[in-house]
Amino acid sequence: MSEKYKDVIIGLEVHIQLTNLKTKLFCSCSNDYRGKEPNTYVCPICMGLPGSLPVANKRAFEFATRLAIALNSNINESFWFFRKNYFYPDLPKGFQISQYNKAGGRAFGDGGEITIKLNGKKKKDLQLNRIHLEEDPARLVHKGSIATSPYTLVDYNRSGVTLIEIVSEPVMNSPEEAREYLKQLKSIVQYTGISNLDFEGSCRVDANISIKGHPRSEVKNINSFREVERALKWEIQRQKNLIKRGKDLIQETRHWDDKRRITIGLRTKEFEKDYRYFPEQDLVPIDIEKTFINKVKKELPEMPKTRSKRFKKDYGLSEFDSEILVLDKDIADFYEEGVKSQKSYQSDNYKQFCNWLKGDISRWLNFNNKSIKDTKLKPKQVRDLIKFIKEGKITGKIAKSYINEMMNGTEISEILKKTGKKRIADEAKIVSIVRDVLSENQNIVEDFKKNPKALEALIGKCMQKTKGQLDPEKTREIILNLIKK
Ligand SMILES: [Zn+2]
Repeated sequence: MSEKYKDVIIGLEVHIQLTNLKTKLFCSCSNDYRGKEPNTYVCPICMGLPGSLPVANKRAFEFATRLAIALNSNINESFWFFRKNYFYPDLPKGFQISQYNKAGGRAFGDGGEITIKLNGKKKKDLQLNRIHLEEDPARLVHKGSIATSPYTLVDYNRSGVTLIEIVSEPVMNSPEEAREYLKQLKSIVQYTGISNLDFEGSCRVDANISIKGHPRSEVKNINSFREVERALKWEIQRQKNLIKRGKDLIQETRHWDDKRRITIGLRTKEFEKDYRYFPEQDLVPIDIEKTFINKVKKELPEMPKTRSKRFKKDYGLSEFDSEILVLDKDIADFYEEGVKSQKSYQSDNYKQFCNWLKGDISRWLNFNNKSIKDTKLKPKQVRDLIKFIKEGKITGKIAKSYINEMMNGTEISEILKKTGKKRIADEAKIVSIVRDVLSENQNIVEDFKKNPKALEALIGKCMQKTKGQLDPEKTREIILNLIKK
């Protein structure tokens, strides 16, 4: 842990919408509200009209069970829902139906953990406190910033959508740890198939942040995983500055303003008693039966941890490579589709396929903010790329310049035909090119006698002359041979 953050304590509450459910948590309204006319996906139940009665969505329990198993959380086999009372326009009933782990109540699952790796090396198990189900409030739409908006609009389409909340223990000590935690959580959620976290607003994070010995603040509604690290860094700095100036910190709720990238004090923190939790009498107690849990466990897809171990074993990849490869399920699926049926593939081919995916292809995806599924890239193209390089038809350097066209679905042979960038394979031709370069660069050749590193400069000159069409290893060999003569 860096010295800079040695006194920092962070706990995260992550709200994940179960976007892969068809209907809301307590009514049959569609879950798929994004991009729809406001206040059209509503009914008396999710509008909280008097006399309406909620009915629990069984599939939501199945999804919660999947996640609980994947996170190694202990599922409570019977519980009931609670009302969390508060008064705010996003909640028409004046309360949110949630779970409560006190006063006889129980969460959906207790405990669990997420393993992270710091700097790609040291592993750390981050303990979870609990996971629980609750309904999403309506969406508030502000004009501009929440602090300056002259009015607020409410869209109840989101009201009643299923949320699962994952509460960590206060065990993180830096914004980087929080980032790694969220990265792993996102991966696990993707593998369980319960939600698509690329949907806007499908995950929201509240962060509890304190400096050891001082009251904590809760930063609410950080609306994407990407913003969390930024918000944490800002809030830690704010608290440290106040302490340095001898000011007292107060326990409070703050809002992350992602436009101005600062946290703003909203209100002093509510205490739990303010929510006047009490059991939701309109819903029957819920029993999650052992046979149900076992069935879900059996059907659960392979999780990233197990998959990376298998990749290491089946394809001879390093631990580092296999962990990176499995992080995004779509990339890992692509990899397996690409290498699985290749009987001639050996460890170097497995490694090359992995390198293209985690290197140039991932860079392209990140830069274009796309998932591999959204592109026209096919495993065959990557296989061809590897094959063409091996056969000496193109160099690795030229192959890199193909990425953009590859991602748009163009076959490698087509790109090769179009650009005509072939590798020069004829040995006599390479020798003649190298000879020219050596005679044109006598000063570097002289330098090489004292400084062997000058060899790289000579290889560079050969590449320059041929626009990268030479194999660097072959060129190196020939230069050395000619110079020694
Ligand atoms: Zn409804």
